[in-house]
Amino acid sequence: MIGDLFNNNRRRAVCTREGQKLYRGKKYAQDPTTGYYVCTSGNRQRLHVAIWEHEHGMEVPPGCVIHHKDWVKTNNSIENLTCVTVEDHERIHNHKKDETGIIIFDMVTSDVVYSN
Ligand SMILES: [Zn+2]
Repeated sequence: MIGDLFNNNRRRAVCTREGQKLYRGKKYAQDPTTGYYVCTSGNRQRLHVAIWEHEHGMEVPPGCVIHHKDWVKTNNSIENLTCVTVEDHERIHNHKKDETGIIIFDMVTSDVVYSN
């Protein structure tokens, strides 16, 4: 209780507010436009990219992006992140708009499957 009172003001400077996250010492805030968590300092790297790169020990390869398997941009657990080509990523995200049903996205494996 005393600790709470003592830390109340200082805590605001270091702890995450609602809509903000700390990851490996860097602060990330949710971008209202894109919905992604973006680093508030330096290169404004997206949090899901930072997590994927740290967990895999490499940068995202050229021509690739990190996709949220469940489509939830704030679910940045490593299990939910997968590296796909820009081309496949567009197919994945166009799937819902595609009424022909040609492109099927496997939500479990995150594979792009062609139904024809
Ligand atoms: Zn995506």
